[in-house]
Amino acid sequence: DNAQPRKPDWIRVKAPTSDGYRKTHKIMREHKLVTVCEEAGCPNAGECWSQGHATMMIMGDICTRGCTFCNIATGRPEELDVFEPGRVADAVQKLGLNHVVITSVDRDDLDDGGAEHFAMTIRAIRKRSPDTTIEILTPDFLKSWPGSLETVVAAKPDVFNHNLETVPGLYPSVRPGARYFHSLRLLQRVKELDPAMFTKSGIMVGLGEDKQSVHQVMDDMRAADIDFLTIGQYLQPTPKHHAVDRFVTPEEFAAYEKAAYGKGFLMVSATPLTRSSYHAGDDFARLREN
Ligand code: SF4
Ligand code: SF4
Repeated sequence: DNAQPRKPDWIRVKAPTSDGYRKTHKIMREHKLVTVCEEAGCPNAGECWSQGHATMMIMGDICTRGCTFCNIATGRPEELDVFEPGRVADAVQKLGLNHVVITSVDRDDLDDGGAEHFAMTIRAIRKRSPDTTIEILTPDFLKSWPGSLETVVAAKPDVFNHNLETVPGLYPSVRPGARYFHSLRLLQRVKELDPAMFTKSGIMVGLGEDKQSVHQVMDDMRAADIDFLTIGQYLQPTPKHHAVDRFVTPEEFAAYEKAAYGKGFLMVSATPLTRSSYHAGDDFARLREN
């Protein structure tokens, strides 16, 4: 049966109804852009969109992988749209974003895993909105040709984010098709290629992991020179997806956050509603001021 633990009151979601939300929605539709906020049914959409903050997904909404926590359809993706980088740049400019997060589905079907498309998108945004900081949240480029990661790094995003998603022991049931140490190495390589670039990663909790494994992941991330960390509660998008094992309490999140700062992360967000891109812009602005 699919009986799930009841949602506690700290997982409360405000209905997205503000003018800012509507404006963002309209611009995204006009530019034929897909947002993660909508696709993932993110609980923060009301808040983020009313602040003009959004995460756009490039290269379509069909993924070659089938992670069990993810609500994106698995299948054969469509051809790349060469005009998409321009549309993304246009939307970023119209929304006047200070910080934009660009992500994509996994494109194991492409030789370069979509690296050049990512790079083109970064360059297009930079050209139109030079003051906007750009964060990318990439797939793992596990099956793409050598040089793909280098192509993306050379386009100089401000923050390179790639999520480890969960502890290594849960990879087979949560992230089949991915490799824990490959993802870790990818982020370490970004830092080697461009030591000035910020690297970021995150995991979901409540999937069945134990605390010790979470601490091990944090240590592994620091060993790979990862700068920023996000930890959030996993929520089951539909009953067909991976079950929620438990709701981690706000106190436990606070303890993870404290431990993470102790391990040397520059910025940590660990709360039940933390998502990879939640308040990313505010955090980044704060960091630059310091
Ligand atoms: Fe979108 Fe990220 Fe905000 Fe969720 S946290 S609404 S995915 S920008
Ligand atoms: Fe979802 Fe990313 Fe996994 Fe694809 S690779 S199924 S988009 S989490």
